Amino acid sequence: MERKQFQLGDIVQMKKPHPCGSNEMEVIRMGMDIRIKCVGCKHSVLVPRAKFEKNMKKVLRSAADSEQTMPTGE
Ligand SMILES: [Zn+2]
Repeated sequence: MERKQFQLGDIVQMKKPHPCGSNEMEVIRMGMDIRIKCVGCKHSVLVPRAKFEKNMKKVLRSAADSEQTMPTGE
């Protein structure tokens, strides 16, 4: 079974959209439970990791990816 990779600061897409219409969530806290914040209405929710992995569709934007594109030096 494939394990979903995600980390703090990632923007993820959920299978079910939030009532506000947005289905993009930002991971703002990692632990036994995951705290995610809706990109659309800024409402944050705490969900158990297992439930989050089940409801998460994919990572849209990784925090690590954006760090790599940051200019170095200067
Ligand atoms: Zn929302």
